[in-house]
Amino acid sequence: MAKLKSITKLNKWFDGINEPLIIAGPCSAESEEQIMQTAKEIAALGKIKVFRSGIWKPRTRPGNFEGVGEEGLQWLQNVKKETGLLTAIEVANPEHAELAIKYNVDILWIGARTTSNPFSIQELADYLKGYDKPLMVKNPINPDVSLWVGALERFHKAGINKLAAIHRGFYPFEATTLRNIPKWEVAIELKSMCHDLPIICDPSHIAGNTDFIGEISQKALDLNMDGLMIETHYNPTVALSDMNQQLTPKELDSLLDELIFRRTTTKDADFTSILETLRSKIDSIDQQMLELLSQRMNTVEEIGKYKSKNEVTILQLRRWENIMSTRLKLGKSLGLTEDFIKKLLQLVHKESIQRQTEVMNKMTSSAKKE
Ligand code: PEP
Ligand code: MN
Repeated sequence: MAKLKSITKLNKWFDGINEPLIIAGPCSAESEEQIMQTAKEIAALGKIKVFRSGIWKPRTRPGNFEGVGEEGLQWLQNVKKETGLLTAIEVANPEHAELAIKYNVDILWIGARTTSNPFSIQELADYLKGYDKPLMVKNPINPDVSLWVGALERFHKAGINKLAAIHRGFYPFEATTLRNIPKWEVAIELKSMCHDLPIICDPSHIAGNTDFIGEISQKALDLNMDGLMIETHYNPTVALSDMNQQLTPKELDSLLDELIFRRTTTKDADFTSILETLRSKIDSIDQQMLELLSQRMNTVEEIGKYKSKNEVTILQLRRWENIMSTRLKLGKSLGLTEDFIKKLLQLVHKESIQRQTEVMNKMTSSAKKE
């Protein structure tokens, strides 16, 4: 168990906050007009209390829009005055935190890239000591629950009790339909390590486009997560960052109408019953397993093309023997039975040969036509 005691429940962070907590707002603050317009439309829905907006944007490569900086904090204050919404921004270093406090931002969050670096987290925790600032910590880029919980522990040790986690998915090791792979089992693991810790899901960064936001949000609610953070922009087509994944306030409204907010039957603060939790783990693992198998078959087809070009036979016995023996050894060390590993490998191998045959036949017949 992680040492996270006396965590303040989300609905005690501010008056009038409900659970699940819905946070909405643009990926980035771009201009005062843009955040004011977006905030007014969000506030008018009457369903949202917290407005998010990136002020400094962590970009993978330089040259993309890196945020408006301090100027945006004044705009956010105006938004708060005008709409009554609470405000939330990302901070990545003590200077950001200092400015956020100076301009009375209500909630701070730590971005995924920052959570991945314990040095940055410690600097921020040292700075925030003594300020009673509500803080949300996004998961690190890698699916490493210890790194995530470690960051939360550093802030907790600095005296922060208004603490929550944000699950935004993990960098995929292979191309997937989603921008970030959810790996729900990691969020479930965090919850089982710290029962009192609220966890909010960020379906926008998991999805990477607007098609899957509803589905992911529903899944998060079904796992009894404590809230959603959804990127929303009055006109996503002109957004300077993450334009594909932002909803309009109107779309957000219909999405919230369609979501089913189930009440948990159990009284404890766990996501859901043990059975449901385990089933979610299985679902997530199966999805990853199928995605990996699909990647394997695509690679097999690539090999088929290469073999065809170089006129090599499909079955190469030594390679197959090597696959069998290395996989058997690995599988056994992972606790799988020999019989199961053999059957699985034979099945995969059979499908692979079929795929290669199809590719090679196609290439030969098109070569004949030329
Ligand atoms: C964001 O919330 O806009 C953001 C940059 O998210 P993340 O840290 O999850 O990539
Ligand atoms: Mn974003």
